[in-house]
Amino acid sequence: MNTFNLEKLVRNNIKNLKSYSSARTEYSGEASVFLDANENSYGSPLKQNFNRYPDPLQWELKQGLSKIKGIPAQNIFIGNGSDEVIDLAFRIFCEPGMENVIICPPTYGMYKVGAQINNVILREVTLTSEFQLDVEGVLNAVDKNTRLLFICSPNNPTGNNMNRKDIELLLNNFPGLVVIDEAYINYSAQKSFLQELTEYENLIVMQTMSKAWGLAALRLGLAFASGKIIELLNKVKPPYNINLASQQLGMEALTGIEKVNANIINTIEQRKFLCQQLASFNFIRKIYPSDANFILLKTTDADKIYRNLSDLKIIVRNRSKEPLCENCLRITVGTPKENQQLIEALKKYPND
Ligand SMILES: *Cc1c(COP(=O)(O)O)cnc(C)c1O
Repeated sequence: MNTFNLEKLVRNNIKNLKSYSSARTEYSGEASVFLDANENSYGSPLKQNFNRYPDPLQWELKQGLSKIKGIPAQNIFIGNGSDEVIDLAFRIFCEPGMENVIICPPTYGMYKVGAQINNVILREVTLTSEFQLDVEGVLNAVDKNTRLLFICSPNNPTGNNMNRKDIELLLNNFPGLVVIDEAYINYSAQKSFLQELTEYENLIVMQTMSKAWGLAALRLGLAFASGKIIELLNKVKPPYNINLASQQLGMEALTGIEKVNANIINTIEQRKFLCQQLASFNFIRKIYPSDANFILLKTTDADKIYRNLSDLKIIVRNRSKEPLCENCLRITVGTPKENQQLIEALKKYPND
């Protein structure tokens, strides 16, 4: 078991940072005249008032999320998409050009891009041929400058869950922070790690409202972690990172959880339907089992199938350049109509 020390992982400039403070966060009473922030007191051309700066900590939305997720609001951070959470993690914990992070390809592309933008050294430990974590490989890749480990479960683009025992082993033995990206958790049979937050102080669970909640355009990425980690994220984020329209629409969405659950059930049903249909094409060599809202396929010629589909105005994701994904396409589960269109389009591809 680790002796985990968060302080030691934080960059010195962040430790010493005095974060931006507005007059309104400094004032604790009930003000009625706001002449502190150079807002436009006359309003805008819109019917709804967007002339005031939004709540920097999005408390109402967090309280709504807290009820649904069973996690205290103080342990929730909301980013402008998960992308912002990923970027903040690099900026808080990794000294550019010096410290390193571990990712396990094939996986979500933003971890690598985020590392490169921040000039953080990347150590890539490929998944096993079963698309599972190479636990020993990860631990062997650790040195004194290792700060973060990204685990995506269910993983994008492979669609499978990482074995829970492996994740637990890494949580217990990895010396830095473990970020578990659960963007697709609502489609999965696997249990979330949210309930494990009290046990592991080195854990950050990321989720998002972009997938099962269907709100990709609002850019609401979620992070759940210890109060200390959340404080660091709040300290470094831009003060008004979540705009008011997103906060309000996010809260409205939380009142419609039945619709979200119905859509999850439909997606899983269509995922099964697609798998059955796709199995009849002999240019599809393998359909990988999926716990997400997409399916990874191994084909005889990914580039050619991709081109054929795009000629028919159907766009899928060509992942054939990713490690272990030679000739693989990733297909998002669509509506029944879209899935039918996909199947019809594939029927036009020579099945030989
Ligand atoms: C789609 C996706 C996200 C969501 O990103 P947002 O910035 O919140 O839209 C996060 N992680 C993975 C692995 C994803 O595939």
